[in-house]
Amino acid sequence: MSTKSIWFITGSQHLYGDTVLKQVTANSQVIVSGLNDTANLPVPLTFKSIATTPEEIQRLCLEATFDESCIGVVFWMHTFSPSKMWIKGLQALQKPWMHLHTQFNAELPWQSIDMDFMNLNQSAHGCREFGFIGTRLGINRFITVGHWQDPSVHEDLQHWVRAAMGWNESQNLKVARFGDNMRQVAVTEGNKVSAQIQFGYEVHAYGLGKLVEYCNAVSEQDILRQVDLYGSEYTLAFSLKDEEKLLRLKNEARLEIGMERFLTDKQCMAFTNTFEDLTGLSGLPGLATQRLMAKGYGYGGEGDWKTSAMVRILKAMSQGLPGGTSFMEDYTYHLGKQGQVLGAHMLEVCPSITNDKPILDIQRHTIGVKEDIARLIFTAQAGPARNLTTIDLGDRFRFILNEVDTVTPPDSLPNLPVAHALWTPMPDLKTSAHAWILAGGAHHSAYTSSVPTEVIEIYAEMADVELCIIDKDTTIRDFKNDLKRSSF
Ligand code: MN
Repeated sequence: MSTKSIWFITGSQHLYGDTVLKQVTANSQVIVSGLNDTANLPVPLTFKSIATTPEEIQRLCLEATFDESCIGVVFWMHTFSPSKMWIKGLQALQKPWMHLHTQFNAELPWQSIDMDFMNLNQSAHGCREFGFIGTRLGINRFITVGHWQDPSVHEDLQHWVRAAMGWNESQNLKVARFGDNMRQVAVTEGNKVSAQIQFGYEVHAYGLGKLVEYCNAVSEQDILRQVDLYGSEYTLAFSLKDEEKLLRLKNEARLEIGMERFLTDKQCMAFTNTFEDLTGLSGLPGLATQRLMAKGYGYGGEGDWKTSAMVRILKAMSQGLPGGTSFMEDYTYHLGKQGQVLGAHMLEVCPSITNDKPILDIQRHTIGVKEDIARLIFTAQAGPARNLTTIDLGDRFRFILNEVDTVTPPDSLPNLPVAHALWTPMPDLKTSAHAWILAGGAHHSAYTSSVPTEVIEIYAEMADVELCIIDKDTTIRDFKNDLKRSSF
């Protein structure tokens, strides 16, 4: 992201003369440097230009579209800027954009205000003219309202910039797919052509034979270095003098290094596999997959490329934020006084969602493949988090998001050999599970304790995909009506 920027373009017109336009430029520069200094934006703003004619607007929008460093555009109308001038440009613009509805001054100078002041500072009607054309063209865009020094405007900007980071990732992402969808599972299926049209990312199938070649080519020296690294990063639950265990751990190191080299060569930042097809590999990657996720790779189990892509996109959005993002599965319920979900997977949960030092253990894997596999075991950090799932409804995609409160389990779960998270879903398990099931949500999701719901909402609008949110205010009656309306 260090090479990326968000362009800032200020709309105006030539009606008021050059002095006003000079002032519009100067004020825009003050706003941009002010926002860069104080708004804590993950990607900086670049003041590009004022835009005063249809030709200028079209040229700027085409430049933004072609410039790889530009991941989004902020528009602001300092004065009036007749919006027929914006039609060609906005139609050509292929980057996400937002409308900053602000004004240079926060307060009106009651004593000195005159018509010159009124003409210079007319966002109040210039931005409404601009709003009309966005709606008339049917373009999804984000809008924030308030003075540019207002912290709530800064927060909105942060959210939008993070969504733009995710959109940029979505447009450039390649997902590697080893093996097909598992057995007869339905929800992990989907139309990959539709996904590429809607989200931009590509899903490529690779034969396991190619991956096996990469794994077999890993040197003994690299494997030993990797085993040392494991010893320093995790609490080992066994002795490296145990030859059988050491062999298993070395197999896992081979898988991690081989997979990472393969993914690097293929420029894939996400992958999926299935325990049903491991031909030529030493086993189902456990620790290896967990560590690749921690390095930023997206992952989805059992051929779930939709979740794998989403995990990667959320990781791209979350750069610099506390917390983490992982592949997750609703596994089992605690139907006690307060209903809770114990989330986990057979092996593949990302250690970015814990603050604890994970335990590295080698235990028997009993589902599908029966063998000893190295894995990290930990409990997810308590605090607010979100589960986000993507489903393919045949004619369109749908996101379903549930806000959850992750808690520390009441006991130590000494016999559970996998990483896990225990959460209380919002508004309660009864409503949450009911709504999730009504909406068709998968058992797989991308779990994030770092990306706020607001960012995901904006991303969904950029992708033009419906997002069903289940939060503290959800009632089944309203949720049903929302689903009904969304199918029109
Ligand atoms: Mn699964």
